[in-house]
Amino acid sequence: MLPELILHEGREKSLLRHHPWVFSRAIASLPKSLPNGAVVRLISSCGDFLAYGHYSAHSQITVRALSFEENQLPDENWLFARLSEAFERRRALQRRGNEAVRVVDAEADLLPGLTLDRYGDFLVMAISSYGMDLWRQLIVSVLRRLCPEVSIYERSDLKARHKEGLEERCGVLWGQEPPDCLYLKEENAILLPCNLKTGHKTGAYLDQRDNRRFAADFAAQARVLNCFSYTGGFGLWCLKGGALSLTNVDLSRAALEQAKSAVLENHLDPGRCQFIKADVFDFLRQEQQKGSRYDLIILDPPKFADGAAHLKRACRGYQDINRLGFELLAEGGMLLTFSCSGALERALFQKIVADAAVDAGVCAQITAHLSQAGDHPVALSCPESLYLKGLAVRHCGRFKAKTDRPLAAQ
Ligand code: SAH
Repeated sequence: MLPELILHEGREKSLLRHHPWVFSRAIASLPKSLPNGAVVRLISSCGDFLAYGHYSAHSQITVRALSFEENQLPDENWLFARLSEAFERRRALQRRGNEAVRVVDAEADLLPGLTLDRYGDFLVMAISSYGMDLWRQLIVSVLRRLCPEVSIYERSDLKARHKEGLEERCGVLWGQEPPDCLYLKEENAILLPCNLKTGHKTGAYLDQRDNRRFAADFAAQARVLNCFSYTGGFGLWCLKGGALSLTNVDLSRAALEQAKSAVLENHLDPGRCQFIKADVFDFLRQEQQKGSRYDLIILDPPKFADGAAHLKRACRGYQDINRLGFELLAEGGMLLTFSCSGALERALFQKIVADAAVDAGVCAQITAHLSQAGDHPVALSCPESLYLKGLAVRHCGRFKAKTDRPLAAQ
């Protein structure tokens, strides 16, 4: 019999809606000397079964629910079924010509603590909970049954692991060591640089796939400014879409070097490209002073807010880059602006962008609401799995005079 955790009265509500997190304050009783990472049964104050989950002794989230069906005990067969479902759901995306796809997106795929990305012949997994960490070998053996041909690499270099009392850890779990850089097909059109061992995330920003392709629609004959370019994914699509010029800006020299190689690898024209190592905030200000103009500007910054505590400062950062973005945008041009801070809600992000437009004296219209790609799904029961928000905004003209300009709302 598995250990049982009994919840306080009324605390079963979120589990009944299949939200997977149980915080310590919800728990009325738990067995003495419960081993960290154990699979437990969650029981309501009335004695009803609620879910099975992984117990985490050191995390604020004491249990992450795995299964809400009493007859579906999370064991090897259960894991096999859940992982094969996850693979199946990504088949259409792969058939469309994507060699790099997210296969398991933690909570959103009902496997909290586990992300798994497929990069061609490699699977890269990242483990963020104690329970999943104990399951490492089990996961590897199930993955080998599901995809015998692939190598498996771990990228659990996640700060979140410290909260669980786990060390960061990376390395080969099965098969070959990945090469330093892989170029993998994106939407059957672009070769995306992927660095499985040292790149950001598990090797590339797969969550921006749809938005990169979307950007190409506005690139024909455009002067494109790709801010926070990383290895240049947006830029590659824009060149493919017929950009007149492309300026990639990033702080990382290594990322820019790779962006340069990727242009050649894709047989695109390096003569149209500039790769600038700079702080985007400084670069945008300098460009504004010079009076530069761009027809398409992409702002895809790193996460400015790590949690609600940093939200205010993060909002100022978003406001700054978006105002500068609008100031550099030519009339009729498009701004594609993003935030991957989960703590910042879409409505507030939109308000920040609206205020930034007003501050820049620009009338603008939203032409699309953008989000994370479909292989990074959002479980309706777990809205926290939505983090990437974006807006496509068109510059529709300037306010007539500075004095006509309404003040941005506070
Ligand atoms: N758009 C990219 C992902 C961007 S990730 C893609 O689709 O692949 C964010 C990038 O911002 C990282 O490469 C990081 O090096 C860079 N960065 C972070 N802060 C920066 C700053 N202040 N100025 C310039 N680049 C910055």
